[in-house]
Amino acid sequence: MNSVDAEQPEEGVASSNAQFRSGFAALVGRPNVGKSTLLNALIGQKLSIVTPRPQTTRHRIIGVCNLPQAQIAFVDTPGLHRGEKRALNRAMNRAASSALDDADLCVFVVEALRFGNEDDFVLQRIAKSGRPALAVVNKVDGVHPKPKLLPYLADLAKRHDFVEVVPVSALKTYNLEPLKQAIARQLPLGPAMFPPEDVTDRGEIFRIAETIREKLTMELNQEVPYGIAVEVERVANEVDEDGQIAVDATVWVDREGQKPIVIGPKGERLKRVGRIARLELNRALGKRIHLTLWVKVRENWADNARQLKQLGLE
Ligand code: GDP
Ligand code: MG
Repeated sequence: MNSVDAEQPEEGVASSNAQFRSGFAALVGRPNVGKSTLLNALIGQKLSIVTPRPQTTRHRIIGVCNLPQAQIAFVDTPGLHRGEKRALNRAMNRAASSALDDADLCVFVVEALRFGNEDDFVLQRIAKSGRPALAVVNKVDGVHPKPKLLPYLADLAKRHDFVEVVPVSALKTYNLEPLKQAIARQLPLGPAMFPPEDVTDRGEIFRIAETIREKLTMELNQEVPYGIAVEVERVANEVDEDGQIAVDATVWVDREGQKPIVIGPKGERLKRVGRIARLELNRALGKRIHLTLWVKVRENWADNARQLKQLGLE
């Protein structure tokens, strides 16, 4: 025994590591409460795309936050929602549900002064999971005057045995440090799961596809409801003669009639989307890309399990 002890690292290090906490905190809530905005604000980087439309997030995305005494692996999820008719919606709900069941802590996100059936649906699912839950009341920047929040917070606290209820604004990055501390306190003791330089489980190709989808969704507004997916077909290994990296991506629509809407008159809409996406990606990836977008039809892809799999949506 003594000889083993002698091989341990310095005592100071060993004892501080013994206090280290690490685990998964799943961000769950109905669509549009600001889960993805919150993930990005907590990590300080845009990992997950955000639009004013519900059901923007389709995948599970991990963002790692390193604190001196803890490592929190945040899991952004598609909003849990009813209406599981389409294969895509079922896949999104599955992704959110499994993140919840695998989490060390469930972070239930709601919107200040709002609590409806959709929120209740998610809360029931959390209760069923048996995971400890912390409630985050987001978008408090929109509440004036602030005391209006108090009865809402009290009411929320009565709905479930939350470990804490924390008001924040993801958009204005208000109260996020206390939120991190509150979450860290709930994680199990244990060493970090990810090396400190790994901020996310998602790579560059995912980032490119999602950025294009975000810009397209913003541009299309309500015109093509949920019917688009983006697939990066090729990223060149080397820069071209202009110092750019060629990227080819396909925008999949699920009906022939959507093609001209996405392309726009004289191709202008698609060009604009390509330009805005390229500018953001150049900044985010720290390299210059040359983006070529194609629009193709895959009939009813969102209803087809095999096609969802091909698009990485299981
Ligand atoms: P998600 O579906 O839960 O991931 O929600 P998103 O992060 O995509 O955000 C949905 C909408 O809410 C977007 O228009 C965001 O800009 C907006 N939003 C998110 N957080 C806040 C916030 O703290 N305050 C305000 N005013 N808007 C927010
Ligand atoms: Mg989202």
